[in-house]
Amino acid sequence: MPTFEELPPFLRNDAVGLARASDLLREGGIVALPTETVYGLAANALDEQAVRRIFAAKGRPLIDPLIVHVASLEEVGQIAELSPLLEKLVGHFWPGPLTVVLRKKENVPGLVTAGMGTVAVRLPAHPVMREVLRRSGCFLAAPSANPFGYVSPTCAQHVRDSLGHKVPWILDGGLCQHGLESTIIHLTEAAGVRLLRPGPVSPEALQDVLGVSVSVTHVAKTASSLAPGMLERHYSPRTQLILRCEGEAPVPPHTSGREAVVWLRRPDDAAGSETYGRARFWLSEDGSLEEAGRNVFALLRCLDNGDFTAVHMELTTGLGLGAAINDRLRRAAARGG
Ligand code: AMP
Ligand code: MG
Repeated sequence: MPTFEELPPFLRNDAVGLARASDLLREGGIVALPTETVYGLAANALDEQAVRRIFAAKGRPLIDPLIVHVASLEEVGQIAELSPLLEKLVGHFWPGPLTVVLRKKENVPGLVTAGMGTVAVRLPAHPVMREVLRRSGCFLAAPSANPFGYVSPTCAQHVRDSLGHKVPWILDGGLCQHGLESTIIHLTEAAGVRLLRPGPVSPEALQDVLGVSVSVTHVAKTASSLAPGMLERHYSPRTQLILRCEGEAPVPPHTSGREAVVWLRRPDDAAGSETYGRARFWLSEDGSLEEAGRNVFALLRCLDNGDFTAVHMELTTGLGLGAAINDRLRRAAARGG
């Protein structure tokens, strides 16, 4: 097994790197690559052996289905039953950070869909991902490129840090624009339109375009058969994470001084740079949820590599993108199953 230093350098976002990544994928390999949400670990979705490599590298349970990425709406029709609702969404949210669950066609291996009759599909916006989809000619199954349950990666180095030799080939496309996983909705008639995972596309924006209501019931508890893999505990750092409501004063630091305190926006001095010293962090300069979303996983990883015994993190109000940020933070902080 190669040592960490002997792993190949990152593939670059140039003609050589894109061609290499596409060849590897066509040959049944796995490649980590950037999307506008987080880095994905991609394989040819119609090649069961290749898909098996994703599950093995991530340590992901087979009951957790994968999202299949496509290059065009026409391609969706090759693997799933199109829905009139989907056609309304295209152009507004596609390409982009929205995943739709549709009835699958027979060519999609049961391994991808955890044996279900539905498949999750996304048309991503990231130019690198789109180019690899185009060049490889594959439908790409691509969950986040991190060990199952750990914090998602938002840059190439995060993938190397946590997957190491399990994923030698990483295409470096810089930082992810959103830094949070896609919004997922269920679009099959029987279930109505249901939000399975909050993300960069809000239910309000979806409702405006669809003209029908989007049910936002907490699926992890109420409809697990609709959303397998949507676990209470996920995206979790090793360091204990303790959440507080927006605006709530942080706890005084533990006498050992090894507890980090994180604000949503850069705190003013009244929040005590003297008290917290170098254990004081923030997700954004001015409270921008976009900036906070982009930074949240990177900061969790960074603090996990620090010498902290606990991290005290401020939640958002939960409005707009704040719902997705809070969802990830709550799962990251959850203990047990
Ligand atoms: P990720 O781990 O970010 O790739 O997201 C994959 C998640 O999408 C899974 O954990 C499921 O919760 C959800 N998902 C994928 N396929 C389906 C499906 N056919 N039906 C419902 N949810 C799905
Ligand atoms: Mg994931």
